[in-house]
Amino acid sequence: MGLIVQKYGGSSLADVEKIRNVARRVIALKEKGNQVVVVVSAMGSTTDELLSLARQFTSDPDERELDVLLSTGEVVSSALLAIAVQSMGHKAVSLNGGQAGIQAEASYSRARIRAVVPRRIWSELGEGNIVVVAGFQGITEEMDIVTLGRGGSDTTAVALAVSLGAEACHICTDVEGVYTADPRLVPEARKLGEIDYDEMLEMATYGAKVMHPRAVEIGKLYNMPILVACSFNDSPGTLIHGGTTVELGNKVRGVAHDLNVAKVTVLGVPDRPGIAATLFEPLAQAGISVDTIVQNTSVDGITDLTFTVAQSDLEKASRIVEPITRSIGSRGCVTAAGLGKVSIIGSGMQNTPGYAARMFKALSEAGINIEIISTSEIRITCIVDGGKVPDAVRALHSAFQLEEE
Ligand code: ASP
Ligand code: MG
Repeated sequence: MGLIVQKYGGSSLADVEKIRNVARRVIALKEKGNQVVVVVSAMGSTTDELLSLARQFTSDPDERELDVLLSTGEVVSSALLAIAVQSMGHKAVSLNGGQAGIQAEASYSRARIRAVVPRRIWSELGEGNIVVVAGFQGITEEMDIVTLGRGGSDTTAVALAVSLGAEACHICTDVEGVYTADPRLVPEARKLGEIDYDEMLEMATYGAKVMHPRAVEIGKLYNMPILVACSFNDSPGTLIHGGTTVELGNKVRGVAHDLNVAKVTVLGVPDRPGIAATLFEPLAQAGISVDTIVQNTSVDGITDLTFTVAQSDLEKASRIVEPITRSIGSRGCVTAAGLGKVSIIGSGMQNTPGYAARMFKALSEAGINIEIISTSEIRITCIVDGGKVPDAVRALHSAFQLEEE
């Protein structure tokens, strides 16, 4: 008998039949003797639909009202799932983020969780209920509703699992687990039985859509085992954990890709202290995350500085950077959209030379030009033309023989 937190994504709750399926699954889990807390996302593409409704009034809707609006998507699915469970003769109760004790910072659309106070959840579990929590939302000290950023229900689920001391957190989705690459691009991609937190964090940050990076980060911090599994069958899924990986065969574990990439180059930047801070502080304040940054050596005290941002942030970023380029006396800035990132990831690459060379060779043999390179201890990323990304992913998957165990 344990406590399990299961999270179901929007595609697993897209219609009445799918909600019934989830109800059956959580009832089965309870009948095995577990206490069950279920975190739900909004049905199907509800969040996008709510967003576009708001944008019919203005292109720049008020942040507070937008969060109130978007949080309702998850509230709808939580109530419907509770009703579905009850209709099958079992006890269930739905709770919104505030009722569930998800206390968050007062920053609209991208709040971080400050604390979880799951008093109400414990008492509902004590009454024998399956507790259904609306994901993606929290409540501020002022009792305002905030959302946790797109894909934030994963974060709700892992944070709840940690604070409840759950046995595990299950992320139930429309795919069967974490793959060596996106199976839509690489038919030979293989499902991984397990992966460690650091590898999963890099996979998620560099484009694997299966889990939200922040959720992996919390799992890692508190050593919460996370199982990514399919909502529609009982295949075993992928276990994300902190133990040593058994599948040591291949040191590259996966290829991640991201098509939402743009770059900004500031030309003729004076090479003196404080310039980078002047540029990047305002971007950070605006909530724009800057990824790869390259600055080349200066010739005559003048240098170029290039960085990448999500393509969806490009407009906002250039609005912030342009006036600054003038104030620091640079020659201005140019931007380019339509780029992509391909990354190879694997803890086993640490301290082992030769991976970068193999990666660059595979890309060059596929006729793909590399624009920017960035690395961490367990990842190498190349920024390439967005149109070349599918070929790049296939070339790397085959160069590192990821189809083989
Ligand atoms: N419904 C929200 C979104 O679409 C949160 C989530 O799905 O996790 O981003
Ligand atoms: Mg989602």
